[in-house]
Amino acid sequence: MARYTGPVCRLCRREGLKLFLKGERCYTDKCAYERRAFVPGMHGQARRSKVSEYGRQLREKQKVKRMYGLVEKQFRAYYKLAAQKDGVTGENLLRFLERRLDNAVYRLGFAVSRSEARQIVRHNHVLINGRRCNIPSAMVRVGDTIEIREKSREQARITEALDGADRRGLPAWLESDRKNFKGKVTSLPQRADITAPIEERLIIELYSK
Ligand code: SF4
Repeated sequence: MARYTGPVCRLCRREGLKLFLKGERCYTDKCAYERRAFVPGMHGQARRSKVSEYGRQLREKQKVKRMYGLVEKQFRAYYKLAAQKDGVTGENLLRFLERRLDNAVYRLGFAVSRSEARQIVRHNHVLINGRRCNIPSAMVRVGDTIEIREKSREQARITEALDGADRRGLPAWLESDRKNFKGKVTSLPQRADITAPIEERLIIELYSK
């Protein structure tokens, strides 16, 4: 599936927020957003005119899409699924995004970023309920166990990610047994579990036009 392969720090600077796309670097003073907290490009430091409502909606959508490492087609497909489901569409959308396997692997601490988690999944290092799954968009369900395959547990990128996992925190819907490279989905993600500043209402307004 398609994915963005360009420079990622630009995305944080564009969205005016740390999106934590580069793993450990995001927590150091090398973070590009910490150093240059203005929009990239020639006119990045110019005075900005007032943003329209449409502009706000667009930026919010771009921010969340980039946070989860998706392209437009994938993101819109999640919106459609969310709109079909009972409940609040915005919350459904965030719940679908959180339930992606690559996100769960990242949240459990096995990877330093979602893009790294995606690669770990693609390279067959992850098992769901004891069975190999190499589909980053697979939806995890309540009761699923997610673990790193035994043969892959000595990989430096995984052990290093686990060393820094405490700093990234663990959402309440997951249970982690980091010593044994395992985790479990104990409930569905709730809105309160997503602590990043997201105004999903703006995304829904944009797509429902
Ligand atoms: Fe964003 Fe991380 Fe780059 Fe900082 S280091 S700008 S948080 S991707």
